[in-house]
Amino acid sequence: MPLGETAAGVTYSALTGWVDRPTDVTPMLEGEVTCDVAVVGGGYAGMAAALRLADRGADVVLLESGHCGWGGSSRNAGYLSNALAGDPELLNALHARRLPALIRYADSAAHFTEELIQRLRIDCDYEPTGNVIAAVSPGQLRRTRRNAEILQRAGADAEFVEGRDFGLPRSFLGGVFERAGGLLNPGKFALGLRDALLRSSVRVYEHTAARAIEPHASGVVVSVSGGRVRAERVVLATNAYSRDLPFAPRRMVTPIWTSLVETEPVEPERLAATGWTRRIGIVTPHTILENYRPTPRGTIMFGTRQLRTARGALGAREPDEAVVADLLRGFHERFPTLSDIAPRRAWGGWVAMTPSLLPVAGEATKNVFYAIGCNGHGLAQSPYLGTLLADRLAGDQAHDDLAAVWRARPRFAPMPVFSAPALRAAWTIDRLADRLHRRRA
Ligand SMILES: Cc1cc2nc3c(=O)[nH]c(=O)nc-3n(C[C@H](O)[C@H](O)[C@H](O)COP(=O)(O)OP(=O)(O)OC[C@H]3O[C@@H](n4cnc5c(N)ncnc54)[C@H](O)[C@@H]3O)c2cc1C
Repeated sequence: MPLGETAAGVTYSALTGWVDRPTDVTPMLEGEVTCDVAVVGGGYAGMAAALRLADRGADVVLLESGHCGWGGSSRNAGYLSNALAGDPELLNALHARRLPALIRYADSAAHFTEELIQRLRIDCDYEPTGNVIAAVSPGQLRRTRRNAEILQRAGADAEFVEGRDFGLPRSFLGGVFERAGGLLNPGKFALGLRDALLRSSVRVYEHTAARAIEPHASGVVVSVSGGRVRAERVVLATNAYSRDLPFAPRRMVTPIWTSLVETEPVEPERLAATGWTRRIGIVTPHTILENYRPTPRGTIMFGTRQLRTARGALGAREPDEAVVADLLRGFHERFPTLSDIAPRRAWGGWVAMTPSLLPVAGEATKNVFYAIGCNGHGLAQSPYLGTLLADRLAGDQAHDDLAAVWRARPRFAPMPVFSAPALRAAWTIDRLADRLHRRRA
């Protein structure tokens, strides 16, 4: 039995299941280097920021503790979406005045990332299908109808659709169709960005973790175990991992572990027989969402439903077997005719949640900037946010979309809502609602 395989036939991975690890990992930093800007973290945000800064003539060093793309960027579910995190009704209640600007930001992010894929000619199996937030009960359907109205009023490119007419699987009654974006292979996208980075003038040091950042003369010194970088400015693009870093703003993010499962290939006719005749990514409006998407490998991928908090330092981790079993129950419930389809692989990653549920950018300390926390929606937003921050560091006035998420001060409130008991309670509420719906159906 291969390493990590369980009796149930699922291979659990502490890496992504989308792509293999790159074989050309760059040497770690040893000694001292100087540059204009040091970027810490080589996910979508850091790689996009470094590329843009280099394009604008800056001398850039990028430090990545694993290999570029190692974090959420290669692990995610591959929904390129113009959605913000959180229920639109809740966002409207929390950020009513800012909502139109935030919607514009998220929409621009989706279009920006589509263009980036095209400009860099990244082959990542991108399908511009849009995505749908689809209800599995009449109660959820009413909510998605209200949400579609809120989103439209705020200027979003979204509309309410009926499930059957729209080509959704029969268990999904309808919901909010978000036209921008679609589905891709996020691992290929991350490695495509990495290739572009390695072709650029950016000096990339992988297996090089920033340990300390201190002011020095008119700039900053970033220390790593084998050396240091003297830079005028630093971009922190360390996402969920920021929680463990003494130089990142305190309480900025809460890391939450999210899991994904991929099935064996499903024959297209069987998929179509479920009613899923439109190739589109589905997300449910549960308190903790469920997501289901077809992949270019002919498999189905599903995830989330349960979230785990971090005990101890973040690092490589596999999904819990109990979570995978629960995800499988969800899959069988939503796709009863596919209950013989076997799960094959499971992996997961850390998502960075912020107190406002919004992405954040700002200046942590003098000359140390951050672009972080897309709350599980960073496939489109992180490259965009990294690029907007780079433009600002290159001397541009802050773009309106950067201003929409900019923090005047790096102060963040505690987040009890992402504690283990609260997440457990959210899961229980979702399951009770599902059970109630099954009884009524
Ligand atoms: C399972 C899962 C599913 C998801 N699904 C979706 C989805 O479908 N759609 C969507 O939009 N978003 C999704 N997301 C979220 C999305 O993946 C992230 O928002 C996005 O990848 C964040 O990019 P990033 O560059 O900010 O962070 P990351 O990709 O996490 O990059 C941060 C990098 O910093 C490095 N690092 C950390 N500390 C240090 C240090 N001290 N020194 C140097 N380097 C360091 C890490 O190794 C890492 O590579 C999902 C996330 C997960 C985990």
